[in-house]
Amino acid sequence: MGYFHPLKITHYMKRVLTALFTSGVVCVFAQSGPKPDAYAKNISAADMKKHLYTLASPEMEGRETGTEGQRKAAAYIENYFKSLGLQPGNGDNYQMYYHLYQDSLTGAALEVNGKAFALDKDFSANASNPQATFKLSEVLLIGTGAMDDLKPADLAGKAVMIVGSLTQNLYSQLNKKSPAVVLAVSSNFPRTMPTGSKGRQGIHAFKPSVDPAFFQVSESVARAIAGDKYDAVKTTPASVQKVKTELLLDVKKTTATLPASDVMALLPGTDLKDQYLVFSAHYDHLGKRNGVLYPGADDDGSGTVGVLEIAEAFAKAKKEGRGPRRSILFLCNSGEEKGLLGSEWYTDHPVYPLDKTTADLNIDMIGRSDPDRKPDTLNYVYVVGDDKLSSDLKPISESINNKYSKLQLDYKYNDPNDKERIYFRSDHYNFARYGVPIIFYYDGMLRPDYHKPSDTPDKINYDLMQKRAQLVFYTGWEMANRDAMLKRDIPLNVPPGF
Ligand SMILES: [Zn+2]
Repeated sequence: MGYFHPLKITHYMKRVLTALFTSGVVCVFAQSGPKPDAYAKNISAADMKKHLYTLASPEMEGRETGTEGQRKAAAYIENYFKSLGLQPGNGDNYQMYYHLYQDSLTGAALEVNGKAFALDKDFSANASNPQATFKLSEVLLIGTGAMDDLKPADLAGKAVMIVGSLTQNLYSQLNKKSPAVVLAVSSNFPRTMPTGSKGRQGIHAFKPSVDPAFFQVSESVARAIAGDKYDAVKTTPASVQKVKTELLLDVKKTTATLPASDVMALLPGTDLKDQYLVFSAHYDHLGKRNGVLYPGADDDGSGTVGVLEIAEAFAKAKKEGRGPRRSILFLCNSGEEKGLLGSEWYTDHPVYPLDKTTADLNIDMIGRSDPDRKPDTLNYVYVVGDDKLSSDLKPISESINNKYSKLQLDYKYNDPNDKERIYFRSDHYNFARYGVPIIFYYDGMLRPDYHKPSDTPDKINYDLMQKRAQLVFYTGWEMANRDAMLKRDIPLNVPPGF
């Protein structure tokens, strides 16, 4: 499960949220064909425990994308897929490689009228800033209450200094008016911890546009730039002041290129082998920080071992002549914790056509429990996204659960007003943006161990995890064997840029 990135919420996402509908519950099972019960037994708590203790072990170094730990985890998954007799998912390869680009700040300078200020003592620079030198003779001071009155023409190409707290909302408003440089005044100086010199990782080396260069500055810098006018704007947030000053800003940086990969295996179908079902989970996590291991047992070691065990169950069925009608792609993504990057890469460069991909069943965190639930209500899983894109999803999901697993399917995170915005926070979202119906399975463990070194394999409820993985298997079995692909009865017009 990735962090919540407010800037990723776009027009398209809002459209998906509002495109809710209700559907009549119709039972649509494949009427004949092999029965899954015998194969679901291959998904066992004991096997999952064995896999998870390996993936969450210190040897895997927390599986951070672009590191040796991630590559060791990828090798482990690849070897397991091979041992099951599955085919490589990407041509001759079980891995699909992509590059991550990460900028690092190597130096930054700020001078006001020839006076130099020190990095981290009086200002900090953002590693995502363009590498550039700015020499500007004017700075526009803007109070936080004045933003609405400013037109893009007032700000385009200018240096602006925001007086007051710069919220995410204010920043995106500002961004649209295209200033060259944004200075945000902060009381958080000098920095006790130097600012991290690395930027966010991304998969795009070239971008359609650049954001304004962004610097935080101390009040000393603000006063050096604007003198009394700074205090005037501070006391009157609805005001704007223009000051003449010689402002020099300089940013130097390098870009590292890091190899990363998704691991994927294919089980060919029979009479419908040109159609596909995807089971996905991300195998990356946060790595090590200051020497401390983030094992990511639940996030998302649990989903990864779920996919490994589901693969085992389908491989067994195939060997006994009871393989699925559609082909199945077992997809273990990396880059999820960096912003769903591995699944973005796969869906932007799909090996199997997305319009022939009936669904993606994504698992991210299925081994723990929501701390807000009472002890007698733990036979559950949160089901997300089954009310979107296809009216086939919910009837299948619910009927299969009633028939086999009998978990409580909790739809709490389908609420469009849910502030955690779970629908946008794991790899299924990248399939959904292309219109592929998805279901996301999730345990709701956002406390106390989420993204902490304490997300360890000894805290997993292996019996519950087995049950949840079996539900995903049964649901996938139905989707892979039924006569028709899932219908896509909510049209999506994906805007340019996606
Ligand atoms: Zn996570």
